[in-house]
Amino acid sequence: MESFAKDRDQVIRKSIDEGLKYILTVGTEERYFAKVVEIVNDNPIVYGAIGIHPHNSTDFNGNTAATIRSCLKQKKIVGYGEIGLDFFKNYSPKDVQMKAFREQLALAADEGLPVIIHSRNALTETLQILGEAYRNMHGGVVHCYSYDRETAKRLLDMGFYISIPGTITYRSAEELVKVVEYVPGERILAETDAPFLTPHPHRGKRNVPYFVKLTTGKMAEIRRQQVEELAATICGNFIRLFLNGQEVPAE
Ligand SMILES: [Zn+2]
Repeated sequence: MESFAKDRDQVIRKSIDEGLKYILTVGTEERYFAKVVEIVNDNPIVYGAIGIHPHNSTDFNGNTAATIRSCLKQKKIVGYGEIGLDFFKNYSPKDVQMKAFREQLALAADEGLPVIIHSRNALTETLQILGEAYRNMHGGVVHCYSYDRETAKRLLDMGFYISIPGTITYRSAEELVKVVEYVPGERILAETDAPFLTPHPHRGKRNVPYFVKLTTGKMAEIRRQQVEELAATICGNFIRLFLNGQEVPAE
């Protein structure tokens, strides 16, 4: 949020000029929720998701749940997340993260929304919790995918989408390359995770939504596809997962 405070409008305008059709912005802490609602209401191209990020799991309680439910009444809040587990940073204790993850999956299911899952160094527990919950859920995506192809298969079998970040453009991406080759077109998504994980050749700088074209370009090369074809597929997947299949033309 803070990293786009000064030039958010310009970045959104440039993204439209670059041909982006949809941007999904994510509020990961309660203090950002109102801003997400404001941004999506001001910008036809932008949709929103809100949820308590695993880093902030200790903040999740009954009051937060009530605030989230009230924000979800907004039509353009189309996803629940990021939620999940991060045992790499461990900013919240493990057991607290697992409890917040389970409770928010239930909340998302109850609200009929797809989830955006953040999972880092937490493979076993993520699969266990999703395995218990997925039958009641309204789909979801594992964002900034960082696991292997076998894990991707298990997540696909549970109905999830796999989202590929800018790290696919890094030289160290061998495992992720195998995932990009493997995931069927109808389940693949691309993202920036802006302002983080900036794709090559801008690595080290702030990431912006339209850099997703670099990520999609690399993915198309790996999949031996035309980039326009892959971009159209990804766009269709976004519409199916987050917009109930209803394309809403940007004004
Ligand atoms: Zn994340």
